[in-house]
Amino acid sequence: MATSLQHPPATSAFSGEHFAVRNPRDGQVDYHFTAPSRSELEDIAAGLRRAQVAWREASLQHRIDVLRRWREEFAKRQGEIAAALAVDTGRYLIATAEAGSVLGMIDRWTALVPKLAQEEAFPSAQQPTISYCSQYVPYSLVGVISPWNFPVSLCFIDAIPALLAGCAVLVKPSEVTPRFVEPARRAIEAVPELAAVFQIHPGGREAGESLVALSDVVCFTGSVATGRRVAENAASHFIPAFLELGGNDPMIVTASADLERATDVALRATCLATGQACQSLERIYVHRSLYDRFVARLVEKAAKVEPNWPDIHAGTIGPFIFGKQAETVAAQLADARAKGARILTGGEIEDHGGKWLRPTVVVDVNHGMQIMSEETFGPVIPVMPFDSVDEAVALANEGVYGLSAAVFAGTLEEAEAIGRRIDAGGISLNDGSLTANCHEAEKHSFKLSGMGGSRMGPAGYLRFFRRKVLIRQSGAPPTIESIAERNARPA
Ligand code: NAD
Repeated sequence: MATSLQHPPATSAFSGEHFAVRNPRDGQVDYHFTAPSRSELEDIAAGLRRAQVAWREASLQHRIDVLRRWREEFAKRQGEIAAALAVDTGRYLIATAEAGSVLGMIDRWTALVPKLAQEEAFPSAQQPTISYCSQYVPYSLVGVISPWNFPVSLCFIDAIPALLAGCAVLVKPSEVTPRFVEPARRAIEAVPELAAVFQIHPGGREAGESLVALSDVVCFTGSVATGRRVAENAASHFIPAFLELGGNDPMIVTASADLERATDVALRATCLATGQACQSLERIYVHRSLYDRFVARLVEKAAKVEPNWPDIHAGTIGPFIFGKQAETVAAQLADARAKGARILTGGEIEDHGGKWLRPTVVVDVNHGMQIMSEETFGPVIPVMPFDSVDEAVALANEGVYGLSAAVFAGTLEEAEAIGRRIDAGGISLNDGSLTANCHEAEKHSFKLSGMGGSRMGPAGYLRFFRRKVLIRQSGAPPTIESIAERNARPA
């Protein structure tokens, strides 16, 4: 049973920073670990680089076979990994689904990559005797830094395509949610060829900074503030940084929208994972003709949603995974109240050691309030009326984020026409947060929500290669005579 899972203090051969980790449900410290120090990470990175040479030179089919064997080992331990993750995150259903999602990632990538990065020869358009072919050279060591909100899936999401590309991968999961690492590591260690090129070590800021310094490319998922530091550190080491950062996703609900479905989506996509998902809807704009009925129905539905306390297997809303996040959300709600907003349901942090918040519908909001301009990362649903589609699009496009968005309208055509005008990388039409269900589609983050190539779709694999070109001359190379000035003397 996930809630009763007890770990002894984790012993570690490492000598870096020590962490005492709190259980998100009761707030008690129940897990300890020590992160690797800088010099230990240097040794780990050097070992991974050495092993990467054979990994890179093996065939793609070999790497696919190794990852499929890992898939079997992961599947055998899926229950154990999900149970540890349920303790890390204080939620059971999502933890179970999240652990299972890794199997789908391995399936999707191993099916897709044989069609990508084909090395073909092409003639040059400038000279018939010249042709060229590309070589795809994987980076030696990819550093992955992941956050606490979806600890397992974000630990593996970049690692799997990088490993298939022929890179070695060193992942540093968040210090807030480290419990899943031990069982996940056992699945990797059961496949020695994989363990040689793939390691996971949780840690904090110190280990994250070291990892950037030791990698050839870094994939970072987390907040804008930390992402900025990672980008600066990566720039100082001249390595690419792929940043997947925060959002403040808007939803536009037009006059023609189906009220039942639109309120269902507004509630689900703001509160899924207690709003602790990057692609959570964070602000809802509703056409004035529908606004009163929308708010009334939303409040009715939101008021019925219960926290999963005291029984993790009952209710719907889990705790804040990171206790301090509850303080951030409470401060944003206090700021909104002070500026004239009304909270129609929810709104009070419930403290059971861990901290919960019921779905919180807020009205009379404006863009001067933090809940409308900043990422909230909690189950908060601010609703604001608009009079014209142009106004709604302008409101949706305000602010520093551009991760994703949603449009709900009477037809998909109407929704799509609006969605095309929104400055964000993933737009859900007549639903919300669909980027979590469509990993095949490439997308870029707009504005401060990220930087670098798409993590999804073919680019999510191709970004782990440097492209080299081999240019062939099949004719006689030109001699020095070809650049003699007299050949160009005017007549
Ligand atoms: P965070 O930025 O606090 O931490 C993320 C990771 O960075 C952690 O592993 C942390 O230990 C590490 N870290 C801290 N300081 C560092 C430094 N100086 N150098 C290197 N690493 C360092 O983020 P969080 O609070 O764990 O996660 C929540 C944030 O993640 C939210 O903003 C959310 O929107 C974002 N997120 C984005 C996506 C996406 O795909 N765009 C997905 C999930 C979460």
